Amino acid sequence: MSWSMTKQSPCYVCKVRDVAEIMQALTIARMYGLSVITHGAGHSYTDAALNTDGVIIDVTDMRRILSWDPQQGIMQVEPGATLRDIVRVATPDCWWPPVTPSTADATIGGCVAMNVHGKNAWKYGSFGEHLLSLTVLLASGQTLTLSPISHPELFRAFVGSAGLLGIITSVTLQLQRIPSGYVDICVQPAASLGEILRIFQEEQAADYLEAWVNGFASGCCLGQGIVTSATYSAVYDDASLQIPGPHLPEQFKGRLARWIGTIYRPAVKGSVRTANGVMYKWSKCWGRKVIRQRSLFRSTYYPPAVFTTYRALLPQGTETFQAFVPSALAERLFNEIIRRSQENNFIPLWCIMKRHRQDPFLLSYQVDGFSLEVNYQVDPRTAQQLRKMLLELMDLVIAAGGRFYLAKDSLLTDIPYRRSVGDTAVETFLHLKQMYDPEMLFQSDLFHRVFQTSLR
Ligand SMILES: Cc1cc2nc3c(=O)[nH]c(=O)nc-3n(C[C@H](O)[C@H](O)[C@H](O)COP(=O)(O)OP(=O)(O)OC[C@H]3O[C@@H](n4cnc5c(N)ncnc54)[C@H](O)[C@@H]3O)c2cc1C
Repeated sequence: MSWSMTKQSPCYVCKVRDVAEIMQALTIARMYGLSVITHGAGHSYTDAALNTDGVIIDVTDMRRILSWDPQQGIMQVEPGATLRDIVRVATPDCWWPPVTPSTADATIGGCVAMNVHGKNAWKYGSFGEHLLSLTVLLASGQTLTLSPISHPELFRAFVGSAGLLGIITSVTLQLQRIPSGYVDICVQPAASLGEILRIFQEEQAADYLEAWVNGFASGCCLGQGIVTSATYSAVYDDASLQIPGPHLPEQFKGRLARWIGTIYRPAVKGSVRTANGVMYKWSKCWGRKVIRQRSLFRSTYYPPAVFTTYRALLPQGTETFQAFVPSALAERLFNEIIRRSQENNFIPLWCIMKRHRQDPFLLSYQVDGFSLEVNYQVDPRTAQQLRKMLLELMDLVIAAGGRFYLAKDSLLTDIPYRRSVGDTAVETFLHLKQMYDPEMLFQSDLFHRVFQTSLR
């Protein structure tokens, strides 16, 4: 066990190697009257894994694969194992995580605690739907193994509870059979959001669907974008089942990415506008229904160098606004989000659309519908106005029955959150928190922002 301090906000960080060390960290935190939150890879865009003036328990060294059954595709892992760790073991046996976000470096504990989704959310639901069981450490020091059958209520509450009910110490997952490590990709241009929705409907047989929307396109071109569908390829070869290594050495790629980011920084908007236009034209040239084969790994996960470029390109960071809305209202609301952004001169640098379905979890953000993720460049001089506009849009989305995702949304506070997920869900969650964590040991900055006023 080792202790340190975070750089940005003052938190004590305790890096643990096993459950015994977690117990010791909890004892020390209690002795000093400090609250605690678990920390995975820190890939949430928000304050979910931060605990200002409290303790962060970093479980990233608890990353063993505890068991693997290549016949059944069942794997048990420690919470700090990453998706990359899992696919490295499972892919050679033709298994793959049924639900995965776009980063391979998220931990499995983090994926459960935020109940992540992927580009197949309308078909395979959210991460929690593929869990066989979870072992959790409660504030009382008791260890429980939860499954959808043994403890249905607590299981449904733990998944997606952002680490506020206890610490996940192991996860048993059901993986999905894949015919090979390739996907067949098809790219289609769409002239409007309506056309994107129509293509999503037509391409329901695909395994993955995602639309990139050009935030710069306005007027009659508003909502123009590209839909990419991917289907597991039937073409098999052994090489496809190995996790591809980097084409170039990581260090060189990192330096190159930083250099590209720094060069383009002064002209970021102009460069992204041009890139958007070129991509749209390229998608038209690609030719409808032309299918290309690509590595499943590379088509699922962003390479780490992309983040280095973003950081160099956008040193003040980005603000993300991801609205999940019912199908019938998606076109109108998404058009409104893009149109208002443009009117207020906050042109979204990149926008991603996905399709979703409801899931059974207590604090679920999933709806039967679509999500649009809009990313803005942050400029400290206009950050207040951007926030004001996004809060107005948030109101609009919630009034329409929409929801927001705690891993990516930094704007939600208790009242809009209650309006979006419902009083009953919040009250049930707080009741369970009172039952399993009566002294409020587990707290985070997100907890104070989204839940605490509800407790007063
Ligand atoms: C490039 C990028 C792409 C992304 N794409 C997607 C996407 O497509 N879909 C999507 O859904 N998300 C996406 N995300 C978000 C990301 O997948 C989630 O935020 C995920 O939770 C990150 O995992 P982590 O290990 O970094 O967790 P952290 O960010 O460290 O923690 C997240 C939450 O989990 C809790 N937690 C972590 N470990 C445990 C544990 N062992 N026990 C209890 N609680 C725990 C923390 O307290 C915190 O509340 C993306 C993020 C990035 C950076």
